[in-house]
Amino acid sequence: MAEKTENVENLIIVGGGPAGYTAALYAARANLDPLVVEGFQWGGQLQNTTDVENYPGYPEGVMGPEMMNEFRAQAERFGTRFLTDDATRLELSDGGLQRVFVGDSEHVARTVILAMGAEPRRLGIPGELELGGRGVSTCGVCDGAFFKGEDVVVIGGGDSAMEDAMFVAKYADKLDIVHRRDEFRASQIMQERARDTANIEFKTPFVPEEFLAGDDGKLRAVRVRNADSGETEELEIGGAFVAIGHIPRSELVADQVAVDENGYVITEDKSTRTNLDGVFAIGDLVDHTYRQAVTAAGTGCMGALDAEWYLRDTPPSPEAHWAGAAGEVAKATAATTS
Ligand code: NAP
Repeated sequence: MAEKTENVENLIIVGGGPAGYTAALYAARANLDPLVVEGFQWGGQLQNTTDVENYPGYPEGVMGPEMMNEFRAQAERFGTRFLTDDATRLELSDGGLQRVFVGDSEHVARTVILAMGAEPRRLGIPGELELGGRGVSTCGVCDGAFFKGEDVVVIGGGDSAMEDAMFVAKYADKLDIVHRRDEFRASQIMQERARDTANIEFKTPFVPEEFLAGDDGKLRAVRVRNADSGETEELEIGGAFVAIGHIPRSELVADQVAVDENGYVITEDKSTRTNLDGVFAIGDLVDHTYRQAVTAAGTGCMGALDAEWYLRDTPPSPEAHWAGAAGEVAKATAATTS
């Protein structure tokens, strides 16, 4: 088992969602004594979710924030330490020491797991945030079943919109895919499947302008503008799914580690290894396809095991250790005593 060297952590996990906390749980149980920089608003996207009905082990469902509390508590039970603040800078190294800065404080580790997640892209129109959880959703797979027998819209023209539409259409009475252009980014096959679904219609080219609340404070309608004629109309709906893509939170590392053209961190084969030795990436920061809490948690487990194996197979080098935080302490001490 890898030993923790003085002032140099074995492992720092950056991100406090299902992926990060699961990595912490596994790493803590493997005696790696992980430090999680969990972010000021820890809990990830599940903090903004109400009922979660599709996480195994909760037959009655669970509220998103409560589930994240439990993930965190389980990691804490085995000694995980948390820093409830945002990482402000990372200095990644290929096989050397990894540095994570939180404001002025610097944390040094032999391995780092990147778990910063992704956030849904927003339309930025009135009512979108206010009616989040009250009719407006960014996850069809998560929330579709709450709209049984209702009229709904899915907004977007990519594969996510098609996929969300096909899933939500199983529950909805009538579903409009609202897209701002007549052309679609979605693959042909996904478009065809959506077009072949009896209760799905395509409404183009329409730009959503505002989500409107009813007297009960829940979503009542969306106002859309015809991009050609400029005319507006209100669509009476019970639910709206905004599926216009996600933005991976890779901004702190995108110029240091390999990312794809959309900013997702690239991992090797079926592992969580990045192109830098000692740097691993998990969860929605890597995954633009599945994006579920349970899949993120699964990669969290993989990340911790990959880090553990790396530490086992890569004994600490004294040079790297002394070049790290411990080295700086030694240099500072030498400077004051000379
Ligand atoms: P995407 O391909 O980038 O599509 C985003 C869509 O949202 C586009 O149609 C875009 O319209 C629209 N959009 C963006 N900003 C908008 C705004 N402010 N107002 C209105 N519309 C806006 O994103 P995605 O669908 O999430 O897919 C991302 C990647 O994951 C793709 O590579 C996709 O193939 C993949 N994916 C695959 C599957 C699958 O195979 N099962 C499922 C989901 C995702 P414009 O076209 O006009 O720009």
